[in-house]
Amino acid sequence: MFQRGQNSATTFLKRCCSTGVAVPVQHSTASRKQLGAAAAAAGAAGLAAWAVSPPHRLERSSHCADGGTLISAGVAAVVGGFGGYYLGTGKTADKTQTKYETYWPRKIMMVFGAPGAGKGTQGVKIVEELGIPQLSTGDMLREAVAAGTDVGKRAKEVMASGGLVSDEIVVGIIADRIKADDCKSGFILDGFPRTLAQAKTLDDMLAKKGEVVSLVMAFDVDPRVLEERICGRWMDKTSGRSYHVKYAPPKSMKLDKDGKLLTESMKDDVTGALLYQRADDTAAALKKRLDGYNTQTVPILDHYLPNGIVQHVDGGKPLDQVWVEVQTKMGRVS
Ligand code: ADP
Ligand code: AMP
Repeated sequence: MFQRGQNSATTFLKRCCSTGVAVPVQHSTASRKQLGAAAAAAGAAGLAAWAVSPPHRLERSSHCADGGTLISAGVAAVVGGFGGYYLGTGKTADKTQTKYETYWPRKIMMVFGAPGAGKGTQGVKIVEELGIPQLSTGDMLREAVAAGTDVGKRAKEVMASGGLVSDEIVVGIIADRIKADDCKSGFILDGFPRTLAQAKTLDDMLAKKGEVVSLVMAFDVDPRVLEERICGRWMDKTSGRSYHVKYAPPKSMKLDKDGKLLTESMKDDVTGALLYQRADDTAAALKKRLDGYNTQTVPILDHYLPNGIVQHVDGGKPLDQVWVEVQTKMGRVS
């Protein structure tokens, strides 16, 4: 099923020292040998780190860097050295992946914010960074509408007007989707939950497997900039990649001699497919979407606040600066 930033590469799990969470890293089968070499180098670096570590570092209790330096360095040396050999054949990578998928909880992230806040744009980058899929209920529903399925028929009108599709439909979609194989190490929710009822249903669903939401990344943007963002947005149907006539134009974009946009020049940078504008990306539908966001969606932040997992990002900054902040905030909560 549709997902943003989809990548056919295999995934390999590395243990993330600061969070204690298994973080998948994308790599192709062809790169296993390079990884092997890198792991062997890590082994050597581990030994070197042990050799030069000052004695006081050994007194501290953190298992990651300080108290465990000696052990970590030793383990890194051994694992790195032997791992270097086995990664060359791929055996250890597969075993390690299976182990983490079995014993560690999944990384379950939410990108949160008003329509046009930058969830889709930054979400694609998070996918590339973590190798877990971004599940956009909006994309899935649009796909259902385009395919003319039962769900699509029920959702079409309400979506075009900027209203919310029923909780029952979206919960059903997500419940199925997160069982898929590519969600084994985690996933990024985009556009879900949108109501408190959806959030509580999600929590219950996860609790049955001993899981919880691990991070809510909330993009704060001045509502006055949203209309320009939404009305200038162009999308690629297949990947969900979004562009903007002013802030993120596709390479192919051309204007006529009067400075008017040539719509036939709006093509996806990667595939060259024609871009489209969403039916609900209008000023009128945005107003309704924003009303719904403020009354029904924003209370979800208060729901997750006591868990200490909500991180705010200034989504009003230029794209690259937002990404820097996202990366910083991702490392802050496990
Ligand atoms: P959302 O998924 O939250 O609805 P998008 O990520 O699709 O929002 O962004 C909406 C529009 O705004 C897109 O056209 C995108 O290119 C543009 N955009 C996203 N982030 C920024 C930013 N920080 N500055 C300027 N434009 C942005
Ligand atoms: P989005 O792409 O996230 O802006 O979503 C587009 C539209 O799909 C929304 O305006 C809603 O009509 C519908 N939709 C997406 N996600 C949900 C959800 N979690 N609950 C209800 N409706 C949703």
